[in-house]
Order: sequence, then C-alpha cells, then structure tokens
Amino acid sequence: MRITMIGSGYVGLVSGACFSDFGHQVTCVDKDAGKIEALRAGRMPIYEPGLDDLVATNAAAGRLRFATELAPAVADADAIFIAVGTPSRRGDGHADLSYVFAATEEIAAALTRPSVVVTKSTVPVGTGDEVERILREKRPDTAAPVVSNPEFLREGAAIGDFKRPDRIVVGTDDPHARAVMQDVYRPLYLGESPILFTGRRTSELIKYAANAFLATKITFINEIADLCEAVGADVQEVSRGIGLDNRIGRKFLHAGPGYGGSCFPKDTLALLKTAEDFGSPIQIVEAVVKVNDSRKRAMGRKVLAALGAGAEGGEPRGKTVALLGLTFKPNTDDMRDAPSLAIAQALADAGVEVRAYDPEGMDAARAMMPVLTCCRDAYEAATGADATVIVTEWDAFRALDFARLKEVAAAPVLVDLRNIYRREAVEAAGFTYVAVGR
Ligand code: NAD
Repeated sequence: MRITMIGSGYVGLVSGACFSDFGHQVTCVDKDAGKIEALRAGRMPIYEPGLDDLVATNAAAGRLRFATELAPAVADADAIFIAVGTPSRRGDGHADLSYVFAATEEIAAALTRPSVVVTKSTVPVGTGDEVERILREKRPDTAAPVVSNPEFLREGAAIGDFKRPDRIVVGTDDPHARAVMQDVYRPLYLGESPILFTGRRTSELIKYAANAFLATKITFINEIADLCEAVGADVQEVSRGIGLDNRIGRKFLHAGPGYGGSCFPKDTLALLKTAEDFGSPIQIVEAVVKVNDSRKRAMGRKVLAALGAGAEGGEPRGKTVALLGLTFKPNTDDMRDAPSLAIAQALADAGVEVRAYDPEGMDAARAMMPVLTCCRDAYEAATGADATVIVTEWDAFRALDFARLKEVAAAPVLVDLRNIYRREAVEAAGFTYVAVGR
C-alpha cells in the first residue's frame, strides 16, 4: 500500500515509521521544514525509544520518505492519514480543528483519485462529516471516502503500542474504505490485534470515551490517596487491593501529581464541549477536570509544606527546591500540560528558587519555564536544595545515591510525588520522606 501521513509529530512519525516497517510505502509530510530536514538527516525531532533505529532502517530500505510538499505525496496514495495536532482552542476548551481542516483543504486540492482519507488525529464527533463535506465541495469529481481511525499509542511506549495494539478502531460505512483499511492493518491483525469496524461517529467518540475513562481512573485513585493520608491508610496497598479485581484492573491506579500530557487534559475538555453542544452533559468528567486542575496546585502546596520540614523550617521565600523529572511522564520529551509546569510556577510564586533536571525534557522545559535553573543531573539539581522532589518517575531517579544527595543538599527532604521509594529505605538514609497517599 502507498500511505501518506500528513503531520510528522508523535503520532504521524511513529505511525508512518511502523507502517513502513510492515512493508508499506510511506511518505511522512510536515509543514515544519526543520523537522523534515532533521528526519532526512537521521535526526529525530522527538524523543521516543527505538524510533531512530526504526526510521533509519526503513528510510535506508526506501520504504519511508519525508517531504514538506503535500501535493506529490497525496497524488498516488492509497490512504492519506491526517495526523496533525488538535490542541485545545484558546479560551473555550473546544478542540482546535483548524489544522485538520487546513490539511483537508490541501488534500482536496491535490487529490487525483478516490484515495481513502483517514483522520488519525483525535477529533470530536462530527469532524469526519465536515472533512467529507470539504472534500465533496472542493472535489466533487473524486468521491474520496473519509474514515475515522483514532490512535491509542502512549508516548514512551509508542512503537510497541502501535505494533501490538489492544485494538484497532476503524469508523466507516464505505466498503472500499473498509477494504483499504483492512489491507493497511493486515500485518497487525494477523498478529491477532482485533480490528473493530464501527460507524464514523462512534469511532470518533470511542477515542474520547477511552481517554476520559483513563483520566477518571487516575483522578479517582488520586482522591483516594488524599483520603488515605487523612485516615492513615496506604494508597499503594489500596490500589493493589482493588486492582487485582479483574473488573477494575491494575493499570492507571497509581496516585501522583495529577494527569497531564498532550492528550488527557485537552481531550477531557473537548469531550465536555461536545457533551454541552449536544445537551448531554457528562458530570463525572466535569468533576474529573476540576479535581485534576486543583490537584496540580495542591502539589505545589505540598512541596511548600515539606520545606517547613527541613532543619530551618519557616517561610519558603528564599529557599531552594530541586525538581527531578519535568516531562509529563518518563521516556518522552513532551512537556505539554505537564504537572511540573504548575508545580514550578507555584514554587516560583512563593519566592522559591527552582532547580531542575530531566533526562530528555530540558530543551522544551527551558523554553516553557524561564523560572528554572537547568541542571545536568539529579545531584547538580539537588545542590543547595531544601527539598528534592521526584515529579516524573524516570528510571534514572529510581536508585538515587542518598549519601551523595544528602551531601550536596541543604536539607535531607525527599518529596516523592510518584511513590517510587519505600519510606523505610529513605528514612534509614536520614531523609524526611513525603509521599502521596501513604
Ligand atoms: P504534534 O504536534 O506532535 O504533531 C503534529 C504535526 O503536524 C506537527 O509536526 C505539525 O507541524 C504538523 N502539521 C500541522 N499542520 C500540517 C499540515 N497542514 N501539513 C503538514 N503537517 C502539518 O501532535 P501529536 O502529538 O502527534 O498529535 C497528533 C494528533 O494525534 C492529535 O490529535 C492528538 O490528540 C492525537 N494523539 C496523540 C497522541 C500522543 O501521544 N501524542 C496519542 C494518540 C492520539
């Protein structure tokens, strides 16, 4: 199959590289000339484990190409995937579909035949109808079918998720489009990944329902963590105790600083807007969004309170905090809506100096958080710190040298917002230990 991917970000690049690895001929297009130039030179514009090798192998085999010009890549494609961003629209929380519609207009201008147009971007219910309307209006001659095919990969584990998905969702009623999508994904479902064909609107909603459910699960355990702190229980044991029940499941039951990232915050908001537009509110997700927002600020207060636990105690102003991990989760360089942003801002607002280290996120963080003092490793960050805070659970922070940390820090206070340590071990090393829900 000849596949064109419009947008070569986290989703477009990973999907394109994986499709080419299955043997399809893929062109990844992006407007960002710097990104395409880097990719052609073998440099990855994002950090994703294993992506550089996958791209190098398939580019060398001639199956994966990169382009800034959309028209030639669209002309001979069997399937054209739209994988551009759908961020929150400033002010109202609706998904900003301007990139999707701009890409659609460009595709319409370049179509030479009824190629299947696929929205892989996360788009609200009814977007496929609008994409189809634009194509019909601009190119009544081509009758290109429009399919919804949401993507469920997780950053940090994207290649594995794409190649071994729990399911593939394809929304279309068009028999030709269905046959093309079956060919596109055949290498996967021979490996027994179920392919679920639905109507287009159902497929669009499945993606939002999935993300809202996962965000709810995280928020639920975060509130249980607060209750654990109040009553003297241990949230990790509660998680295990409920998660071993197959009806509940163990995943997404880790208490922490609140969900962030490029998907959950914007997708929960966009789902609420759809619900509002159609007069069918989802109050549980309304509560999730509210609770998660206040949680990020509460984590800033938690760190400020921990500063009082140091030898000096007293006012936070003039103190120093080290943040270990800034990206919204490990194994990505993505800083979009990361809890670290709210935490660093709360600390800076209280007059605290914020030192920070992240294995992959420093470049993005520097641009987004001018308040930070950027450091080269955990120990440089902790130098002179009155509290050291684990914000993101990178492997590099899972076996810290506590003796060294104690030597460089101003006070032995560890705030573990991801619960990666055992209290006894940290306290035995002479630290005051503050965790979440324990
Ligand atoms: P991204 O911002 O990393 O990448 C989008 C890319 O599209 C950018 O490189 C941009 O330059 C390019 N682009 C925009 N308009 C273009 C045009 N007209 N022609 C060519 N290129 C264009 O975004 P992302 O994180 O890959 O997300 C893409 C979509 O996938 C979003 O809807 C998102 O919600 C969804 N999604 C993301 C993830 C994730 O983990 N990041 C997971 C599942 C779904």
